[in-house]
Amino acid sequence: AKEKGRNAYEFYRPSMNINNYERLVLENDLHKAIENKELILHYQPRIDVAANEIIGVEALVRWNHPQWGIISPGQFIPLAEETGLIVKIDNWVLENACKQNKQWQEKGYPPIRMAVNFSARQFLQRNLANSIRKVLQDVEIDGSWLEIEITESTLMKYEESIVQSLEDLEKMGIRIAIDDFGTGYSSLSYLKKFHVHSLKIDQSFVRGIGKSPDEEAIAKAVINLGHSMKMRVVAEGVETGEQLAFLESQNCNEVQGYHFYRPMEADMLDEILKSNRLA
Ligand code: C2E
Ligand code: CA
Ligand code: CA
Ligand code: CA
Repeated sequence: AKEKGRNAYEFYRPSMNINNYERLVLENDLHKAIENKELILHYQPRIDVAANEIIGVEALVRWNHPQWGIISPGQFIPLAEETGLIVKIDNWVLENACKQNKQWQEKGYPPIRMAVNFSARQFLQRNLANSIRKVLQDVEIDGSWLEIEITESTLMKYEESIVQSLEDLEKMGIRIAIDDFGTGYSSLSYLKKFHVHSLKIDQSFVRGIGKSPDEEAIAKAVINLGHSMKMRVVAEGVETGEQLAFLESQNCNEVQGYHFYRPMEADMLDEILKSNRLA
């Protein structure tokens, strides 16, 4: 308690660089977060627009810090990426998200796909495909129930080396989605190099629907691009009926956002997934 008080004092001292101090404390604590079981997963449903049912969920990590409470990924993922701890975190997320999905399947709920976010660092691991295969085998779940979300910058970063990894994953039935699509690169030529299954339109474009003609046009263009390349298109950050109506009119395949559900704990999703009816 004494320790905590001292930290709190230093933390609020106006003259100090809070960011650097925060960083130091967080980095130190993050090393212990996994073994101390402080990481938790929330799940946000993805809805198939045509079928009007939940076809998957995205696993989103949170850190329940013993002193500071719930810390959002935006605050610790960048730090975890710099320190390399992200690999441990993403592997923990993968394993636990797959276990959760297996539990839902064992309860007899209509099966859904689990999406997890992978940082670029994951693809520096030798034998990434083998270690994922091992997780799937241990959990006893088929790869076809897994989707891995990566950003454009991840694809660009490793270009050649990532191609083989993605092919190996595809052989296991695992799907690949490009996250935050449209925010990273002006060149689309890289899309030809990789076989990806879904494009996720970035929230910023969804937010512009009905408000900003330019952003709405980009959302529309991404949907058409995805479809012409035989990909499924997912819109995230859908918050209003107006956005949904537009996306529906453009035949966007899947939607995700507060208009439907916020990310939530597995227990809260139980009743919803059991009947798989939209609330
Ligand atoms: P992301 O992958 O683009 O995830 C979408 C973010 O938007 C999530 O924030 C989600 O809670 C939020 N969101 C969903 N629907 C809405 C909506 O209708 N309106 C608004 N305003 N926001 C919405 P979250 O959970 O804070 O995650 C932030 C980012 O942290 C993620 O962005 C992802 O890049 C990263 N992240 C989260 N979990 C993991 C993980 O396990 N591994 C890695 N490497 N990154 C993760
Ligand atoms: Ca994501
Ligand atoms: Ca995203
Ligand atoms: Ca993002």
